[in-house]
Amino acid sequence: MTAITISVNQVLARKGGKTFSVTPDTSVYDTLALMAEHNIGAVLVSENDQLKGIFTERDYARKIVLKGLKSRDAKVGEMMSTNLHTVPPSEQLTTVMTVMTQRRFRHVPVVDNGKLIGLISIGDVVKAIMDEQEATIKHLANYIAGDIAT
Ligand code: AMP
Repeated sequence: MTAITISVNQVLARKGGKTFSVTPDTSVYDTLALMAEHNIGAVLVSENDQLKGIFTERDYARKIVLKGLKSRDAKVGEMMSTNLHTVPPSEQLTTVMTVMTQRRFRHVPVVDNGKLIGLISIGDVVKAIMDEQEATIKHLANYIAGDIAT
């Protein structure tokens, strides 16, 4: 089995660096509406260009639904996770996979010199690995076919 050597930068180059953010005073309801509109499972919370935290569907389930709170009354700034784990673009995807597995979250913001430049989700990780494996298989198939032809 070949080692996976894809950087976060390469993943962002393929998927783009677009992220969705709200300010801490946004209601959880409006935040969920934004997530539904863009078909995403997490939003970043930022204020004055400063990354403050992340809010995901899991936060909604645990901190709003289970506690019987109303999403129209709750502010996302009170429900977000603040101890953000971020990675630089030079990080290897395998490291991101380890972080996601060990810390049990599915989203990692990418920060370059203090500036948010993208977000890697577990779906992006799976896709990048599948693409890499497909390329490897094609390469090996071509190699074998070439070998047989000669
Ligand atoms: P997720 O699996 O991404 O839905 O997140 C599970 C929990 O971890 C939620 O409480 C999130 O707010 C939190 N979380 C998600 N991503 C991160 C991250 N990169 N750093 C810190 N907490 C996170």
